[in-house]
Amino acid sequence: MTNYIEPAPIKDKENPLESMMSRFDRAAELLGISDEMYHILKAPRKQVTVGLPITMDNGKIKVFEGYRVIHSTILGPSKGGIRFDPGVHIDEVRALAAWMTWKCAVVDIPYGGAKGGIACNPREMSAGEMERLMRAYTLSMLDVFGPDKDIPAPDMGTGPREMAWLMDEYSKANGMTVHAVVTGKPLVLGGSVGRTEATGRGVTVTALAAMEKMRLNPYRASAAVQGFGNVGSYAALLLHERGVTVQAISDVTGAYYNPRGIDIEAAIAYRTKNKGLLEGFGDAEKITNEELLFLPVDVLVPAAKEDVITDENAANIQAKLIVEGANGPTSASADDIINEKGIMVVPDILANAGGVTVSYFEWVQNRIGYKWNLERINRRSDRILKDAFEKVYLTSQEYNVSMRLAAYIVAIDKVAKTYEFRGGF
Ligand code: GLU
Repeated sequence: MTNYIEPAPIKDKENPLESMMSRFDRAAELLGISDEMYHILKAPRKQVTVGLPITMDNGKIKVFEGYRVIHSTILGPSKGGIRFDPGVHIDEVRALAAWMTWKCAVVDIPYGGAKGGIACNPREMSAGEMERLMRAYTLSMLDVFGPDKDIPAPDMGTGPREMAWLMDEYSKANGMTVHAVVTGKPLVLGGSVGRTEATGRGVTVTALAAMEKMRLNPYRASAAVQGFGNVGSYAALLLHERGVTVQAISDVTGAYYNPRGIDIEAAIAYRTKNKGLLEGFGDAEKITNEELLFLPVDVLVPAAKEDVITDENAANIQAKLIVEGANGPTSASADDIINEKGIMVVPDILANAGGVTVSYFEWVQNRIGYKWNLERINRRSDRILKDAFEKVYLTSQEYNVSMRLAAYIVAIDKVAKTYEFRGGF
């Protein structure tokens, strides 16, 4: 059915929920928040699990389990993507939902955090199977989703096509077209210009901001980008356009290394012609995804998946700067090793927040019934990310902590203060 090659697992996953919580705990302690507030911010507000019986193309019914976790609605309606991946697990969805709360708070957009997921393998499913699964999931979540309640978006394994089905199913069930219930839609369906490349663009904007602090000239800097999906490919392209020599890229088929620099436009064109895979991409030495992490480059962008940098391999990293395109690419156990090596990290909740920022713009445009142009979207999202970077950087200096802890401090402080004003029961 597919010639897709499963990547060998780099390492057994650490529990992402524990990884997230250990950072949360340290930041909460530094901020000195009360025990009560700690418990308020820690527990998700709502967790929904649904069973979805889907008729597969072979006529047999397969039951999928779908999740939606609403971590917080303190700052506004909850926001977060839907992940279709064989590795989806409720603990992972809970961690990702909390990350969305902190991410929206760091970039100061009026959303809480949520995440959804279904354990399935989109690469082995037909378009029809995917559509039935997405529509069934949407119907099961009718009470959860809503433009003022919970607004989904794409994540790993989903994209504009799936968001269109979600929007259509939700609209039909409500007897009217509701654009603002989901973001990351195709342009013709109320999607926003700039949304597709937004996460990769944000990675580049925050990487350049960090390089400026480190006095690293982009024209003399080199980078390795792990992952060539929506985030990695645009991050690689935009870094390349800004003068950085991207020496390595990778996807599920392996990593491709050329110390003289890879022509990213050519790599994207190659992938498009080659069934979406980099396999066979010339003008580069083939190395493994893990070897890519240890290359002697200035900037490392892990933009593939969780827990690729761990306590077992962090000591081998040579980069001066890590910009986290993926959610949770560094396990908590690696934090101290990285800090001791003096590596600067732009953490996921800041580095990859460009996606949800432009999702917010998409939602705003849907609600005012108007469309902004690319120049306005890019200008505004770049400003939001630069301001957030600066705030996190200053906080890291004020508290004398890593950028990661500083990002958590900024986020937790904002959510806690908002909660205090709103009050509890
Ligand atoms: N799934 C993306 C993320 O993890 C985007 C979420 C959104 O746009 O709501 O940030």
